Amino acid sequence: MDAIAVDFGATYTRFAVVTSSGKIRRKIVTTTPKTISAIKAMFKRGFDILRQTGVSAKAPLGIASIGPLSSRRGLVLNTPNLGGLSINLKEIVESFHKGPFALLNDCNAAAWGEKVFGVKTKVENLVYIAFGTGLGGGAVVDGHLLLGKDGNAVEIGHIVVDTNSRVRCGCGGMGHWEAFCSGTGLPKLAAQMLGKKLWKTSWEIFESLPRDGRARRVVAKMAEYNAAGYASVINTFDPEILVVGGGLALSHPRETLEKPKHIMKKYQLLRTEMRLSSLGQDAALLGAAAYVLETV
Ligand SMILES: [Zn+2]
Repeated sequence: MDAIAVDFGATYTRFAVVTSSGKIRRKIVTTTPKTISAIKAMFKRGFDILRQTGVSAKAPLGIASIGPLSSRRGLVLNTPNLGGLSINLKEIVESFHKGPFALLNDCNAAAWGEKVFGVKTKVENLVYIAFGTGLGGGAVVDGHLLLGKDGNAVEIGHIVVDTNSRVRCGCGGMGHWEAFCSGTGLPKLAAQMLGKKLWKTSWEIFESLPRDGRARRVVAKMAEYNAAGYASVINTFDPEILVVGGGLALSHPRETLEKPKHIMKKYQLLRTEMRLSSLGQDAALLGAAAYVLETV
């Protein structure tokens, strides 16, 4: 049986038809609009295009979404990455889709994608970490995907990695991992270290690495925070593998994954294998599809 999968993100939304073996038969990527009516129209258009593949209007539908969620009610609540919008995804999709529906946090969905289709699928304990606009995670523990009471489990971007820093996270908290090491966080870390705002985006910082010692110092500090964050996560979950994905890590694996590996021993009680995602940007789509196919 095929599933319809949607990865509803702050910047892009992906729609796909996915087979039970994890093959993507058709995929559409579109920019995510910022109003409810436009989001509804985007879903309708996405589903109309996918139906051209012959997929049933009653096919299981798995949605991986930015949070925070109330997953059982099908809601996205006051999401900071879409200007504080609250979105009733269940109501939107039920107006034109008749099949069973599951809503997962995007990083939880990606963790399940890695468990079912990733670099090491025989494992029962896996942690996935995504470095993108934000920093999030998902965990499979003893074979089960951790969901939490509302589907928001494993918000590891908000682990405190520095109690002295005055850098404020998007959530309002101080010293959070995401505030230093995500796509939006890295320029804030640079501004704190240099005392001025030199770069607007993390991409500018990475591009400056070959010729600018200040960029190298910022990225070295990021590696230190990543080492602390990774060690805390491994010490918490005791996983067989930690998989790293998200746009920033996939583009810069040396700085986000390899360098921290060499400096994290001093923080670790437990050890594990750490690998870059083999599913790339499709991890959440594949996980949402696999999850809804298994639960209906
Ligand atoms: Zn935070």
